[in-house]
Amino acid sequence: MTIDLTAGRPQPADSTSTAAAALRELASCPVHLRTDPGYDESRLAWNRAVEQRPAAVAKPKTAHDVSRLVRLAAELGLRIAPQSTGHNAGPLAQRGLDDVVIVRTGALSSVTIDSVRRIARVGGGTIWDPAVTAAAEHGLAALHGSSPDVGIAGYSLGGGIGWYARQLGLAANHVTAAEVVIGDGTIVRADADHDPELLWALRGGGGSFGVVTALEFSLFEIPSAYAGLMVFDISRAEEVLRRWSTWAVEAPDQVTASFRVLHLPPLPDLPAFLRGRSVVVIDGAVLASDDRADRILAGLRSLKPELDTFLRVPAASLTRLHMDPEGSGSGISGTAMIRELPEAGIDAFLSAVGDRTSTSLMMGELRQLGGALSHPADGGGAVSHFDGQFLAFGGGPVMSPEVALQVGADAAAFTRALAPWTGGRTYLNFVEDAVDTRQGYDELTWRRLSGIRSAVDPNGVFAANHQVPRLYEDGRPSR
Ligand SMILES: Cc1cc2nc3c(=O)[nH]c(=O)nc-3n(C[C@H](O)[C@H](O)[C@H](O)COP(=O)(O)OP(=O)(O)OC[C@H]3O[C@@H](n4cnc5c(N)ncnc54)[C@H](O)[C@@H]3O)c2cc1C
Repeated sequence: MTIDLTAGRPQPADSTSTAAAALRELASCPVHLRTDPGYDESRLAWNRAVEQRPAAVAKPKTAHDVSRLVRLAAELGLRIAPQSTGHNAGPLAQRGLDDVVIVRTGALSSVTIDSVRRIARVGGGTIWDPAVTAAAEHGLAALHGSSPDVGIAGYSLGGGIGWYARQLGLAANHVTAAEVVIGDGTIVRADADHDPELLWALRGGGGSFGVVTALEFSLFEIPSAYAGLMVFDISRAEEVLRRWSTWAVEAPDQVTASFRVLHLPPLPDLPAFLRGRSVVVIDGAVLASDDRADRILAGLRSLKPELDTFLRVPAASLTRLHMDPEGSGSGISGTAMIRELPEAGIDAFLSAVGDRTSTSLMMGELRQLGGALSHPADGGGAVSHFDGQFLAFGGGPVMSPEVALQVGADAAAFTRALAPWTGGRTYLNFVEDAVDTRQGYDELTWRRLSGIRSAVDPNGVFAANHQVPRLYEDGRPSR
């Protein structure tokens, strides 16, 4: 089931189809036009609730293929939207794709580990799972997130909050270099010595600055972690959230955790004791000795969860700790940066998602922020910390247009319910609607990002999910 988020938009002019056909003729890689049999399969986003119908879908195999695509698009009056997986395809589709060539970077997938320098180099379309596995062979860990098949580029360019975040910060701040095709088709390297301003923008500024064809980032000596999850019946949600939210603010930086209300479907592949149930799940990872981790978790364990799997595990297993859907998903969501969560905020959160009879949301989550996420990182990029104590996320699966309307309304209600406790900059990686990107940055940072976009993409060739506009000479934003 897909929902046409572009319904009602004007159909693309014939000139766009002609331009797309010319691009295909001259490109050095496969390009699927709307009339091609391969188009429907190649345009599918990871989030199947998003219907994306671009002018064409290109599948480059090399940086030179990308460079040629960008040059051709610029000449033919088309735009280029890099997309690794389509985990955050919604905002891109909502912005309109009639003149856009989506560049699927999946074939630019490679992983090289330099275990001496503790640096990973990956292709621009690589997902987390193979990189984490390769790093683990050297006893090293990357700052991946909760999903094994999120694209490293999209995640890292937007920030990147994972299980080590309160100790080591955002993934973006540990990106050491990027190879990028910019607006004139040039392939540039951005690192500390070459174009550090572009590197700064790519560390949190998102995908508005070009197509990333390779990324390098730091790895950490983390062979294992003390990690797992605790499960409670939904009837205990209030008691557990009160304890967790206080614990989360006071906990040392060594732990990063999440609190979730889950309304699970009666699926046969779920363990019998969870099938069709509503539960509270706390999961997380502690970077400390077993003894120290036990002391850190004691306040939660004293709540006597019905299941407690926390123990020492290989670091690589953390990509599946959160049990995020793999391969594809289909959802609509809402998010909010939470300054603090007093009793009334806890009540509001649980009123919005705690009762499955009154919401279509399958999940309401609070990610623990603070620690290294609460202060600017040394030499950090456009996003290097957050103002809130928690990051809220609520979402539900979408199986039909009617359900989509309901889930959309409930996701908006979830965000609205938390509004009195919301503050600071939004985390754009969690935003699945097209919004003004000013929400994600302070004014100075946003202006600096706009200036960099104007420099690397003066003609506005690139389209991004969370697009930072170019600035006109009079300082007004453009597309
Ligand atoms: C199930 C799930 C779990 C998640 N877990 C986490 C988590 O734990 N922590 C967290 O911080 N975030 C998480 N996210 C959010 C995730 O980081 C964003 O959705 C991110 O944008 C996904 O990147 P992608 O490349 O997979 O998606 P895409 O939709 O392919 O890309 C999103 C945008 O990134 C940019 N982009 C992607 N690839 C390139 C490239 N090669 N060059 C230039 N720009 C590019 C483009 O602007 C693109 O529109 C999760 C999302 C989902 C759906």
